[in-house]
Amino acid sequence: MNILFFGPNGSGKGTQGAILKDKYKSAHIESGAIFRDNIKGGTELGKKAKGYIDAGELVPDDITIPMILDRLKQDDCQNGWLLDGFPRNKVQAEKLAESLKEASMPLNYVVEILLPREIAKGRIMGRRLCANDNNHPNNIGIPVIAPDGDKCRVCGGELSARTDDQDEGAISKRHDIYYNDVDGTLAAAYFFKDLAEGSDTKYIILDGEKSVKEVTDDLVAGL
Ligand code: AMP
Repeated sequence: MNILFFGPNGSGKGTQGAILKDKYKSAHIESGAIFRDNIKGGTELGKKAKGYIDAGELVPDDITIPMILDRLKQDDCQNGWLLDGFPRNKVQAEKLAESLKEASMPLNYVVEILLPREIAKGRIMGRRLCANDNNHPNNIGIPVIAPDGDKCRVCGGELSARTDDQDEGAISKRHDIYYNDVDGTLAAAYFFKDLAEGSDTKYIILDGEKSVKEVTDDLVAGL
C-alpha cells in the first residue's frame, strides 16, 4: 500500500501515520525525521539542512527531492510506503508524480487532514518528542495524550521539545508554506487530488479537529 499523507504541522499526521504503518507494515518515510537524524549524526546533509529547519524554511528542493526519491527506491519500500512531510510544494509534487510514473509505482491513497491554523499552532507548541520513538504521542495541551509527568506517556522515555516547535516565527513560516494553495503544500495536495480523480487513487479527507481516536476511526473506515 503506497500512501501520501498531508496535514499541517500539529494536525496529528505523525500519530495517524504510525497507525497506518503498523496496519500495512509499510516503510514510514518522514522527511523531517530524516533531516533530524542527519543533524543528530553530524552528516553533511544534516549540516546543510539545519539552518533552514531552525528558521522554519524549506530545505532546498535540490537537496530534498533526490533524498526522498532515492529513499523510495530502497528495498524496504517495495512492499509499500507511507510518505509524510513530502511533497511540501508544487515542484516536489510534480517530481514525485513523474518518478512514480517512471517506476510504475501505484499511489493507492492520498490522505489530507484538515485543521485550522490557530489550532495547529497551539498543538505544535504543546507537543513533546519521546527519545525512544518520535511517534509516541505526547502533548501538554491535549489531555488524552498528556505526558506522564515529564516522561513519555507510552514508554516512560525522556521528553524534549523541538526548537522549531517553540519559535512562533518559525511556526508561522511553516504554516505559511503549508496553507499556500498556489505553489505550497496545499497546492501539492490539490495537485494529487486532481490526479486522483478518475484514477485508482483514493483521496481521503479527515477532520483533524476530532479526537485522535475519532480521526483514526475515520481513517480506517476510509481505507
Ligand atoms: P517536519 O518534521 O515535517 O515538521 O519537518 C521539519 C523541517 O524539515 C521543516 O520545517 C523543513 O525545514 C524540513 N523539511 C521537511 N520536509 C521537507 C520537504 N519536503 N521539503 C523541504 N524541507 C522539508
